[in-house]
Amino acid sequence: MLVSNVMDEIRTEQAKENWLAYWKHFSRCQDQYCAEVNCLNPQHHGVLVKTQRAGDAEIYVIPMCKDHSDNFTSLFEIADNTEIVPASYTL
Ligand SMILES: [Zn+2]
Repeated sequence: MLVSNVMDEIRTEQAKENWLAYWKHFSRCQDQYCAEVNCLNPQHHGVLVKTQRAGDAEIYVIPMCKDHSDNFTSLFEIADNTEIVPASYTL
């Protein structure tokens, strides 16, 4: 599945780690890996993304390693079994 980054540049390290904690809280997925389709690095940041699905305006959180999170500029292919968690849930 292709996703695009909607994270802005000024997000702090702390905020990105908080989004990963958020993803872990709501996800039923036990996977410990980065969401990028071929990446086996451990999760480090939660990243805010949009899907390319028609009519889907929701913002989702996905887990990514630090390298992919920091170099995520445009479109990204994530593994199909990655659980994407809507960012609008209330903790
Ligand atoms: Zn990665």
